[in-house]
Amino acid sequence: MTTATESASQPAPAPEEASAQPVHILWMNGGLGCDGDSVALTAATQPSIEEIALGALPGLPKIAVHWPLIDYECGPEQGADTFIEWWHKADRGELEPFVLVVEGSIPNEAIKPEGYWCGFGNNPETGQPMTTSEWLDRLAPKATCVLAVGTCATYGGIHAMSGNPTGAMGVPDYLGWDWRSKAGLPIVCVPGCPTHPDNLAETILYLLYQVAGQAPMIPLDEALRPTWLFGNTVHEGCDRAGYYEQGEFAREYDSPKCLVKLGCWGPVVKCNVPKRGWINGVGGCPNVGGICIACTMPGFPDKFMPFMDEPPGARVSTTASGLYGSVIRTLRGFTAKTADAEPKWRRKGPELLTGYHKTW
Ligand code: SF4
Ligand code: SF4
Repeated sequence: MTTATESASQPAPAPEEASAQPVHILWMNGGLGCDGDSVALTAATQPSIEEIALGALPGLPKIAVHWPLIDYECGPEQGADTFIEWWHKADRGELEPFVLVVEGSIPNEAIKPEGYWCGFGNNPETGQPMTTSEWLDRLAPKATCVLAVGTCATYGGIHAMSGNPTGAMGVPDYLGWDWRSKAGLPIVCVPGCPTHPDNLAETILYLLYQVAGQAPMIPLDEALRPTWLFGNTVHEGCDRAGYYEQGEFAREYDSPKCLVKLGCWGPVVKCNVPKRGWINGVGGCPNVGGICIACTMPGFPDKFMPFMDEPPGARVSTTASGLYGSVIRTLRGFTAKTADAEPKWRRKGPELLTGYHKTW
């Protein structure tokens, strides 16, 4: 979607006009991926992508979103409404400022001399496809910030599994974990397979405010994830955590109890999905019966496989929780019985049984 009225064929703005120019968002989904993060973003509500793209939020800078999923500028190279021309403009230094969004993992083209793994548009000098990694080489130094979306772009994800042929990696693996943009921003990672819609929309919003000088440096953890979104574990926000504490574990999927014995990794995974819900506050993996498979973690999927087995350590902790939980359950049983009945003084009769001592 391009919200700016300018067309791709217009000349670059004069430097004095640059401040009036929109912040461009170049969304590159030419990596190894399934476009699931793009699809997920269409479900965001806090804020929605429409609210961001149309500038409906107070203080938001004017922006122009170049996103293959919904862009109407989809014409051919050198034709009318050329989508890829925005990327060439950025490469020529004619787009300022811009945020580079990367979706999909980056294959290792150095191991593929006879061809290429993935690309995006053509190189105007050669007429040959431009690889995703070449786009990164060209645009990352010119971007105000680089946002990696989804676990493929952040850490490699499923494409980077043991035994894969492409040597796929995440953007921080490719550019370097200590990489900084020309504006001094680290790579910002919003992992998830796919990423949570609102986590992604909220991070885009934060970065736009930061680019506009209205927000402090985005706080990130050691895996470059926004701390306010990934600072807690799935377990800490799970609807089923009470069952875990009471040592009550599901043995099959039609149970409301804790799913750890069915393979849930929630106790060690950083993700706010159960707390936040998936769409508009509804859903969130374990809340609705799905084990957490740790899709936001840098070690996903290899370090968490095979899925659906009890995670290592869970046996010890659930045994302890089972013992502790049976005591807690018994005590809570007494309390629940008491709390579920009316106080004994609430009855008819000549006596006041409330414990009040008359002063008359
Ligand atoms: S289902 Fe998973 S996240 Fe929820 S309480 Fe059990 S172990 Fe924790
Ligand atoms: S709860 Fe687990 S499986 Fe679900 S999105 Fe979060 S990390 Fe991924």
